[in-house]
Amino acid sequence: MTQSGADPTVQSTEQAGGAAELARAWAHLVATARRAADTGLVVGTSGNVSVRVGELILITPSGVPYDRLAPEDLVAVDLEGRQVHGKLKPTSELPLHLAAYRATPARAVVHTHALHATAVSTLVPELPPIHYMAADLGGPVRVAPYALYGTPELAEHMLAALRDRTACLLQNHGAVTYGDTLDQAYDRTAQLEWMSRLWLTAHAVPGHTPSLLGPADLAAAGRQLKGYGQGGR
Ligand code: 13P
Ligand code: ZN
Repeated sequence: MTQSGADPTVQSTEQAGGAAELARAWAHLVATARRAADTGLVVGTSGNVSVRVGELILITPSGVPYDRLAPEDLVAVDLEGRQVHGKLKPTSELPLHLAAYRATPARAVVHTHALHATAVSTLVPELPPIHYMAADLGGPVRVAPYALYGTPELAEHMLAALRDRTACLLQNHGAVTYGDTLDQAYDRTAQLEWMSRLWLTAHAVPGHTPSLLGPADLAAAGRQLKGYGQGGR
């Protein structure tokens, strides 16, 4: 009896299905990276985006403007960082993305140099909990101490700052968020940028200090957010 895995027809059908899934994921990744550029979360080729498909990580190439990325530019690495698809060199922040996939439940990772988030990273060791949406990120967002971009040291600092969180800031550099999907990771970056802007705005009013939320408020918001929108009916 022939085993189905050894049947060349079955194998090529599986390969075609896998290739179609990768092509779809790549298109979504490129669209997410372009959206980050279009909405001002990144400028030029700063930042990078990745998504996990099975045991592969699709990831933006280093230093290539997102509007120039075509379907044939697909870059994929395995969880050890070995290049499996594509000719373009993966982002210089590959160690940071791989660390997130190895040590957290991340299925998608977004790294940006969003202006207000980066400004906050130069001022405080943690974004003060000024809004209940901090609960969506697991609590007050920590700032990972500075390390040179692209280094394992930066990845290590990021992981420590991400403990029990889905977002962190990188001191004098930018922000990282992860999620179950590219859209969720992107939305978390947008919320983090908005919250950073909120804190900077309130904090800058002379003679006033913004009120902050305590752990109990954030915990209650976290519970409430689980049923937010059309979920939890
Ligand atoms: P890449 O162009 O290599 O992705 O680098 C951008 C960046 O944000 C480095 O931290
Ligand atoms: Zn960066």
